[in-house]
Amino acid sequence: MNAVTSQEVAALGTTFIRASSLPEMFDCPSRWHAKQILGLRTPMSGKAALGKAIHASTGAFDAARVLGSPITADDAAGAAVDALHRPDEDVDWEDDSPQKAESIALALHGKYCAEIAPTQDYAAVEAKCEALTISDLGITLTGTIDRVYRDDTGALGIADIKTGKTAVSAAGEVKTQGHGLQLATYELLAETAIQQPITAPARVVGMQTGVTAKAQRIALGEIDSPRDALIGDQDQPGALQHAAAMLKSGMFYPNPRSMLCGERFCPIWHTCNARK
Ligand code: SF4
Repeated sequence: MNAVTSQEVAALGTTFIRASSLPEMFDCPSRWHAKQILGLRTPMSGKAALGKAIHASTGAFDAARVLGSPITADDAAGAAVDALHRPDEDVDWEDDSPQKAESIALALHGKYCAEIAPTQDYAAVEAKCEALTISDLGITLTGTIDRVYRDDTGALGIADIKTGKTAVSAAGEVKTQGHGLQLATYELLAETAIQQPITAPARVVGMQTGVTAKAQRIALGEIDSPRDALIGDQDQPGALQHAAAMLKSGMFYPNPRSMLCGERFCPIWHTCNARK
């Protein structure tokens, strides 16, 4: 188990947690500690680079529309190409390549701009929340919210793009399982960033990153009230209370059964006894 130093414990009084890192905190706390507290890194995977590229191009497309100066899907697509060929961090492409990823990114970007974006009424795109401090837990949440959408009644909700090889089933259903905690955190951050209540269901824009056109699917899914599991109540603590307890104790247990327990994804894989 990774225990933090006394200096770290002092710093943990005001721990910043990136919303995007929360799933990893509960997947393998020891790996989360190595990356988020110790600052250790592994190169980004090709899969993550592809997701980042799609976020960049679709974000450019939607942001321009929200600002009232729309650009074409082709113009916005350049952001995906740039992200793949000039990444701002090391990428371990392994069996993939920037060229292969580009073809998938451009196909999904085109589909998104033609089929999904025109159906959405976005109020904000890539809104940043620098800090949301929950003082009684000693946690400060931070992150960027993909989108805030407005539903038919005018209520606001967050929308998040999720890419992956199993993001959308052949029947067109989006895999929402496992995203609740992160989306709930984005809801809290969005309320701080735009200073308006978020009451509509959290929306997942699923993008299946298959190689063939048939396997490049896009669909919408929703999660109602994801905050229940994050915040909890008097009888049942939520994920944030569990996170606070872990941070307070300084004990970050390892989980060798994590799907990402491997040399490519964990910066302390070589020294972690738990996975041996
Ligand atoms: S090697 Fe596996 S168990 Fe150990 S910290 Fe890394 S992911 Fe967790």
